[in-house]
Amino acid sequence: MQSHPYRHRKVAVIGTGLVGMSYAYALTIKGLVREIGLINRTAAKAEGEAMDLSHGLPFTKPMDIRAGGYEMCRDAQIVVITAGASQQEGETRLDLAQRNVKIVEDIVPKVMEHNPDAILLMVSNPVDILTHVALKVSKLPPSRVISSGTVLDTMRFRHLLSEYYAVDPRNVHGYVIGEHGDSEVLVWSRVNIAGIPLLNYCEACGKSIDPKKEMIEDDVRNAAYHVIEKKQATYYAIGLAMARITEAVLMNQHSVLTVGTLMQGEYGLDDVCLSLPCVVGAEGIDRVLSNPLADNEKKALQGSARVLRKGLDAVGY
Ligand code: NAD
Repeated sequence: MQSHPYRHRKVAVIGTGLVGMSYAYALTIKGLVREIGLINRTAAKAEGEAMDLSHGLPFTKPMDIRAGGYEMCRDAQIVVITAGASQQEGETRLDLAQRNVKIVEDIVPKVMEHNPDAILLMVSNPVDILTHVALKVSKLPPSRVISSGTVLDTMRFRHLLSEYYAVDPRNVHGYVIGEHGDSEVLVWSRVNIAGIPLLNYCEACGKSIDPKKEMIEDDVRNAAYHVIEKKQATYYAIGLAMARITEAVLMNQHSVLTVGTLMQGEYGLDDVCLSLPCVVGAEGIDRVLSNPLADNEKKALQGSARVLRKGLDAVGY
């Protein structure tokens, strides 16, 4: 597998709050990049973060971490947007839309001015709506505007199944698709453990999924609410999910990840961004995979798309 053709690996992070910095911290520990550019509305915050992270580099891998203006985006293969307000207790992701759409409309043209070849990785919420806005404002091809989507939700799903069946999560396959939010869809019909469909696996090991199904649905769909209730924000796990997407791009891994992307006819859906399993490599999204779904899952996905379309209508997109 070819690594990325660029001279060195660089990402720029816009929004050096909890999520942006958890991601940058994960990048330093994993040694995934050669350079990180940090940009924030309040410049001092980005500068302090660059200093703090840099002081840890003797314990990790050599790299340059700098803070600055939008010129930091130059030469970056990936520009990550984590700027904006975050969910407060009792707020849904869609409640944030009005505030964060304006921020994305302000940021994206500045990124394009300095780096029209970047891949945009959208993370701020509501991430599906903001990915659509970034796509329209940047005029980049859909393959280059990715959202972190349901990558984390999918990992939570696989993790809970792996705990229940006491199997390494890397051997548990399943996807969460649709909105990264309340209407997301857990694709139970495609779950398999080491290639064995879930129902067959349950029969073979004598352990039915039925008593656990509702709890897993709730834990996956409402995970962020549960964490926010206890500590007001989520950031470590999403930082690692973003690092995983970054790795797939920078190493041209062609990894299948449930990132968010523009629908172009998949399951009859158009003009809305949501998550499906996608092949992710150096050019962004190589392919969107439309696996066969059970009828109820297909309907739920279409329902999720309607929720997002309503959200887009409300903000004028
Ligand atoms: P935070 O408040 O800690 O950080 C946000 C940062 O953005 C702050 O440093 C702020 O100064 C900066 N900022 C605001 N407006 C800006 C602008 N116009 N230009 C540059 N910087 C700007 O918030 P957080 O906890 O890091 O969350 C950031 C976003 O990520 C939120 O929208 C949150 O909902 C979202 N989030 C997404 C996921 C996901 O799975 N997609 C998970 C967790 C959080």
